[in-house]
Amino acid sequence: MITPDGSWDLVVVGAGPAGATTALAALHADPSLRVLLLDRSDFPRDKSCGDGIAPHCFAKLASIGVTGVEDGWTPLTRLELARGEGSVEGTMSRPVHVIPRQVFDARLVERAVERGAAFRRQRVTSVDDLPDAGVVVGADGAHSVLRAHLGLPTGRRALAIRGYAPTPPDRRGTQVIRYGDRRQPAYAWAFDRGDGLSNIGYGELLPPDGEDPPSRALLLDQLEQLLPGYDGAEWKGHHLPLSSWRWDQPDGRVLLVGDAAGLINPMTGEGIYYAIATGIAAGQSSVRALRGGGDPGALHRQAVRDQLGRHLKHTFVASRLAEHPVIVDGGIRVARRDRRVFDELVELGLGDGRISGRLVRGLAGGLGRKAVTATRARVGLT
Ligand SMILES: Cc1cc2nc3c(=O)[nH]c(=O)nc-3n(C[C@H](O)[C@H](O)[C@H](O)COP(=O)(O)OP(=O)(O)OC[C@H]3O[C@@H](n4cnc5c(N)ncnc54)[C@H](O)[C@@H]3O)c2cc1C
Repeated sequence: MITPDGSWDLVVVGAGPAGATTALAALHADPSLRVLLLDRSDFPRDKSCGDGIAPHCFAKLASIGVTGVEDGWTPLTRLELARGEGSVEGTMSRPVHVIPRQVFDARLVERAVERGAAFRRQRVTSVDDLPDAGVVVGADGAHSVLRAHLGLPTGRRALAIRGYAPTPPDRRGTQVIRYGDRRQPAYAWAFDRGDGLSNIGYGELLPPDGEDPPSRALLLDQLEQLLPGYDGAEWKGHHLPLSSWRWDQPDGRVLLVGDAAGLINPMTGEGIYYAIATGIAAGQSSVRALRGGGDPGALHRQAVRDQLGRHLKHTFVASRLAEHPVIVDGGIRVARRDRRVFDELVELGLGDGRISGRLVRGLAGGLGRKAVTATRARVGLT
């Protein structure tokens, strides 16, 4: 880790789940690597989030030898999805954890430092701020300086606000997602943390540039309309860069991961799984490029596309379909009738699931045969 000449093998900008996991994966692959993790904040630090950590995250972390980051937090298995009068409630086959990011992110940073990464507090405003490094990873979130440096477009975004409130007795052990009627995706959530408090919030798609974004008062009003009665505090808002049909990563020595890579599930607003999955891909691609040769950007692009490429296309199609209320209603109805559809929706929304023929029929049920055929062709289900 000591670098007498001031240079590093790997510099990671941003120490959220994407950045900390990049460092962890790189040092798992090569413990002798010189890794510098930079963040504008010291840890623990808060981050506006629903705090819902999908089981897929823990499985991915275990694959690079990181276990127990969820210790002391209660697993949750009940999920309720609702729109208007329609709802479906079921038990997820694997539990989710709701862990405040103040805790979760600090635990990952601590593990990365234990594994040999150096942590430094520094706000990066340009790549010129960075010390010499073989590979640089941009894990600096929704307003990424490194993404801007690569000249990549921002894409569709949502804006969401979260707070904490006491959990009502009838919502213990449950994650609730209730869709609203405004620009889709638009929904409120209440996720029980298991310690007497719930993470509650509301988010919706931002309008195109030039139009006014929803105000804080509007977001809080929507939350109260969809999930009334919570007495919230510690409100904090943030942008969500939603993933789209195609994901790109240029060649070269600057890699993007997590929100900086524009990776948040457009159906559910979940981004921690993608942050961890792409962090692992970037850490491993960096080691491969540094030790074996090859272009780091090309290796990372291939690794992420192999893992998530198809899934991202499927969630993009599902999110576009879900802009039609009739399809959300149809999906909820079918998920209520068919347990396998419920499980597939969970996989699509929380992990890296895909759209099966059964799910297409369920989601598109309200639109008739023509829409089903078009959707099947688009996602390659003939
Ligand atoms: C309201 C809300 C609710 C959400 N709910 C969920 C949920 O329940 N489950 C889920 O999976 N996802 C959820 N998400 C998405 C999730 O929060 C993100 O996808 C996730 O945080 C991405 O991790 P990351 O490491 O890429 O970025 P971040 O967690 O944003 O970390 C980026 C880090 O970079 C640092 N940084 C930024 N700029 C600089 C700079 N210039 N120089 C140095 N450091 C810098 C920041 O301090 C930060 O620590 C939600 C998002 C929002 C806004």
